[in-house]
Amino acid sequence: MKVGILGATGAVGQKFIRLLQNHPWFEICALGASERSAGKRYKQAANWVEDVPLPNHIAEMTVATCEPSAFSEVDFVFSGLDSSVATAIEGAFARAGIPVISNAKNYRMDNSVPLLVPEVNPEHIALIQSQSFTEDGSGWIVTNPNCVAVPLSLALNPLHKEFGIETVVLTTMQAVSGAGYPGVPSLDILGNVVPFISGEEPKIAPETQKLLATLNNGELDEPHFALQATATRVPSINGHMISATVKFKRTPKNINEVKEAIQSWENPIAELNLPSSPSEVIKLHEEERYPQPRLHADQEGGMQLHMGRLRMAEVFDISFVAMAHNTIRGAAGGAILNAELLYKKGILK
Ligand code: NAP
Repeated sequence: MKVGILGATGAVGQKFIRLLQNHPWFEICALGASERSAGKRYKQAANWVEDVPLPNHIAEMTVATCEPSAFSEVDFVFSGLDSSVATAIEGAFARAGIPVISNAKNYRMDNSVPLLVPEVNPEHIALIQSQSFTEDGSGWIVTNPNCVAVPLSLALNPLHKEFGIETVVLTTMQAVSGAGYPGVPSLDILGNVVPFISGEEPKIAPETQKLLATLNNGELDEPHFALQATATRVPSINGHMISATVKFKRTPKNINEVKEAIQSWENPIAELNLPSSPSEVIKLHEEERYPQPRLHADQEGGMQLHMGRLRMAEVFDISFVAMAHNTIRGAAGGAILNAELLYKKGILK
């Protein structure tokens, strides 16, 4: 399929370009960014920060403005647009009959827009049918969650199914790449921790609850657990770590019952063999010093969820840490996996 990238010059846009090299199904045919970049060759418009060479054919492509008319040859677009412009631009593409697979937060909480992590809620793609961007249903939007809600929902999903979540208290330790480029000033973050990330905490509970919702007769039935989050920025480069303590509706008898719930969870999309799927979705580390962002964030193409420090808790029921690569599993790689699911299900065609 022919693919366009909106916000192609940004941190997430660059990750799309990197991950789509040699993709078996998707080929990049158009790149879009702001008026500042439009009309320039990609190599002049973008400050390439990926640690692999910029592919030659991409370097020479001319960046377009993000107007649907400049993307008439593509079958769908990925969006890594700044949220200040994503509502108008993504909506215009959907109304023009061009499906949008987005990273931006703008449409995530819209009732008719799937907020998708394929291993958690693949059935939510049915919501696309209730979108009204076009009369013939050719234009629609699917989003992926914030880079904390992705690892959190992957970790909580098997536990919620088995025990029912009642309360979650968590602290995030978020890598600097999550702030885009150039991101946090070096003098703020080197040898330091910043105990606040603007706009981050309010997204975590509603997005996680939407992800864990069941779909009944076309309506999402969300679990209403309490969640208290503190989001911090730490000097790791890639990989957001979460430390969580959870109270369940049904208290597990012991930690082995919790391990069993995680290990016996069945990946609902396993048999689809999607190109970006990790072979093992949840890696549960037994070593107390693992997982670590520097050692594990890149494993399985950056698409694996790492859990560890699983233990019974003195307050509530259990504690654990969860970690995933924020710009791959938590952004561009997650969006590509969404597109692969939609392609395999015949919705992208
Ligand atoms: P970024 O590096 O600042 O890139 C923003 C992109 O949007 C650039 O390509 C920029 O083009 C484009 N843009 C800005 N204003 C525009 C306009 N008026 N018209 C068209 N394009 C415009 O941001 P990022 O970190 O890649 O994040 C992109 C999106 O993904 C955001 O919505 C963010 O919240 C979300 N996200 C990011 C992460 C992460 O880990 N970084 C994770 C999950 C979700 P120019 O270069 O021409 O300005």
